[in-house]
Amino acid sequence: QSQELSQVRIDYQAALYALVEDGTKMVCTGKMHTDRVCRFESLCYSTEAEEFVFFHSNSSIMLPSLGSRRFQPALLDLSSVDDHNTQYFNFVELPAAALQFMAKPVFVPDVALIMNRFNPDNLMHVFHDDLLPIFYTMQQFPDLDLDSRLFFMEGWGEGSHFDLYKLMSNKQPLLKEQLKNLGRLLCFTRSYVGLTKITTWYQYGFVQPQGPKANILVSGNEIRHFANFVLGKLNISSAESSSEDYIVLFSRTMNRLIVNEAELLLALAQEFQMKTITVSLEDHSFGDIVRLISNASMLVSMHGAQLVLSMFLPKGASVVELFPYGVNPDHYTPYKTLATLPGMELQYVAWQNKEVANTIAYPERPWEQGGIIHLGAGEQERIMKSKEVPRHLCCRNPEWLFRIYQDTKVDVSSLIQVIRSVVKTKPGFRKQKWANGLYPGKVRESRCQASSSEASVTKLSVTWHIPWNLKYLKVRDVKYEVWIQEQGENTYMPYILSYQNHTFSENIKPSTTYLVWIRCIFNKTLLGPFAEVLVCKT
Ligand code: UDP
Repeated sequence: QSQELSQVRIDYQAALYALVEDGTKMVCTGKMHTDRVCRFESLCYSTEAEEFVFFHSNSSIMLPSLGSRRFQPALLDLSSVDDHNTQYFNFVELPAAALQFMAKPVFVPDVALIMNRFNPDNLMHVFHDDLLPIFYTMQQFPDLDLDSRLFFMEGWGEGSHFDLYKLMSNKQPLLKEQLKNLGRLLCFTRSYVGLTKITTWYQYGFVQPQGPKANILVSGNEIRHFANFVLGKLNISSAESSSEDYIVLFSRTMNRLIVNEAELLLALAQEFQMKTITVSLEDHSFGDIVRLISNASMLVSMHGAQLVLSMFLPKGASVVELFPYGVNPDHYTPYKTLATLPGMELQYVAWQNKEVANTIAYPERPWEQGGIIHLGAGEQERIMKSKEVPRHLCCRNPEWLFRIYQDTKVDVSSLIQVIRSVVKTKPGFRKQKWANGLYPGKVRESRCQASSSEASVTKLSVTWHIPWNLKYLKVRDVKYEVWIQEQGENTYMPYILSYQNHTFSENIKPSTTYLVWIRCIFNKTLLGPFAEVLVCKT
């Protein structure tokens, strides 16, 4: 590995001098340990102590300067999983003068991204927790380019999907274990520590039952941009649209099996008049699977990590997720959430086995594969009789593991029925979208005028101009929402209007001040911002 590091030559004496004179510099983004990523110059790592080291000199910088709050509970999360106590990052401090008593530093010349992978043996975790956050952390900081190097500090081996991590930069990622071979004191010339969480959409249930994150900040556009980057790295040209339509069945071969795959394939082929192809992680290369998925009209699979690859489906395709007996699809939605992100443009279908006769359970397997014979007889009986796993926390709930590792005989007709209830057009067909999710700007130049006619009816006329961006857009349906609020009251009258003027006469009183709020709405759902409030006196 050491020859790897020396690809970029550095002047050792100059680097050492800079470290001793300037010490470590740190400037971070983020207010809390859970949203922080830090940029360092001359951050060091002692492979003996297994600690990062911040060297103080007259020129060192530490922003934020948290004092002992740096330990409450940590400076930042090294993985994209929120506030997990096994993923905390911190450093120990030393005066730069201590360097003269320490092992000669070995400098890392590459720009480094230092982080933890969360669960590198599980494909969902690889994509959701690591690859997408790595990709977008690199987008956030321009010096994290393809020539930067990833450092995985969680302490695991390469794991089953190391080739995917290698796609993220041109340099071989290094594992914590390998750092020992490089030297006793490593000093990163320039490094970033931590990962953005802005692209994650799911929380795994460490503190509350699993579900979509409360405040999702990623759209299908960013997921697809990342997916295209991966396709490019794998030399897969997207959308070979000329080829024939087909359905991909993504099967698992070790556990959570579909026991009547042949029957299922036949039924799907017949119903949708399409070819069907079966793939599995065991029997196909990652590149082949992604190539097949990227042109498929439908992806059918048991619930499981392999379904994260639905991000490679073309727009308009369908995702059909199958759940074993006793597992409520609404409680386990990482793939539903992904498929239904705005801009993914996938149709999502969940099917659950409701027939206890069609499930094959394995109470005698080891607990991590869903076995329950280590439990008391009463608890075993309760689990066997239960029709649905109650909501639970991650990760070792025996009833959950028991149910999720069942095999299933899929009732083909009930499956086809639920697919048909969602997928109305030909699978893979994309409905023409109008304005693709662009929001209106504020309405402009709004004015109001009061009038009291002879009949002593007080009226309020309000006019406004279209939002500035509308003249550049083709929008099918443009409406305006107007709220009229009597000053001092906390209720208002809402109106939905089609034109840029309206005269209000209902409930308009003389000698009264009204506040008028106006916003534009595109295609019924895209609500723009309210313009500055209009103050109108009658
Ligand atoms: N896996 C697989 N075939 C199998 C069982 C598992 O390819 O028969 C993969 C699965 O896609 C995931 C990893 O092995 O990437 C771990 O699977 P596990 O059942 O632990 O997790 P889950 O799929 O439920 O997230």
